[in-house]
Amino acid sequence: MMTNKIEPQPGIMEIDLYVGGASKVDGVSDVVKLSSNENPYGPGDAAKEAYARAVHDLHRYPSTDHAELREAIAAHHGLDPARIICGVGSDEVLQFLCQSFAGPGDEVLFTEHGFGMYRILAHASGATPVEVKEKDRVTDVDALIAGMSEKTKLVFIANPNNPTGTMIGGNEVARLADSLPEGAILVLDGAYAEYVQGFDGGAALVEARSNVVMTRTFSKIYGLGGLRIGWGYGPQEIIDVLTRVRQPFNLSNGQLAAATAAMNDQAHVARSRRENTRLRDWLRNALAEHGVPSDPSFGNFILARFADTEEAQACDAFLRARGLLVRQVAGYNLPHCLRITIGDEPSCRRVAHAIGQFKAGDE
Ligand code: PMP
Repeated sequence: MMTNKIEPQPGIMEIDLYVGGASKVDGVSDVVKLSSNENPYGPGDAAKEAYARAVHDLHRYPSTDHAELREAIAAHHGLDPARIICGVGSDEVLQFLCQSFAGPGDEVLFTEHGFGMYRILAHASGATPVEVKEKDRVTDVDALIAGMSEKTKLVFIANPNNPTGTMIGGNEVARLADSLPEGAILVLDGAYAEYVQGFDGGAALVEARSNVVMTRTFSKIYGLGGLRIGWGYGPQEIIDVLTRVRQPFNLSNGQLAAATAAMNDQAHVARSRRENTRLRDWLRNALAEHGVPSDPSFGNFILARFADTEEAQACDAFLRARGLLVRQVAGYNLPHCLRITIGDEPSCRRVAHAIGQFKAGDE
């Protein structure tokens, strides 16, 4: 028999599979999922109704230029619609960036507690991922600058960052942009930007520079994680490159209709942000009272710190046995921490109570 030696492209076998998304616990019926930074209230009615109406167009191919969605995004954020690109989640926009700008011999920079897809996508495009240290769980611009070389093609930072919840200021971000080597692009991942009242996600910096791209998502505050829609904003020259690698029909009629309606329903966004801020403060205080500290968070989650890896794992198991799913973040160099999404009020109370029981040693 002929043997067929399968040889994937360089980098592919370096990829560790993405962990996450589980929503079930064997033997527990009443599960509360606080492990994927989803909006506990889901999308608003307008988005759901628009999605339902899209059923009438199932036989029609969707728009290839996403004009209506881009116009809605541009109108709300005060941006140029021609410089917006939409993808299957912001993950896909990050993928377009790696595919288009980083290949074998190139380096992709991100921080030690940075979002896991940066490493995966760098490997997938054959580039070399380079991880730099953070300072007390905060993006360290000096470390990023020190990590750059003429091989650096992309620098990814999430602001606010997942899973730390921390954020750096506009001056620091601008300093990073101004320190990029020739030909490199700074990607500002704003997946959680809407949780920070008044924050533009870096849009003004995109306008002011030729080497900065911002990515955003409908998966978080818009409550549409299950639909997979994200977008990017950048200089025309860069967006034109990304558009060449985008499949013409990457977004379905339902995705486009729901995202457009969601963008036009800012009341839902404001409500979600208000509840998130209130309950995030409450949960942080409640956990601190139980001896579990966390940094001030700017996202829809907090990063709870435990004494060591063993205690974090034991607490995770304790919560899981009670139907409470949170996220271990060992893969993010934070094995002594658990990331807890801010759920609705009953979920926050339930997880705080259970962590109190765990710390008190109640079995
Ligand atoms: N960036 C960050 C920092 C994230 O946390 C996430 C989702 N976990 C994403 C990007 C990707 O989100 P999506 O593809 O759903 O837009």
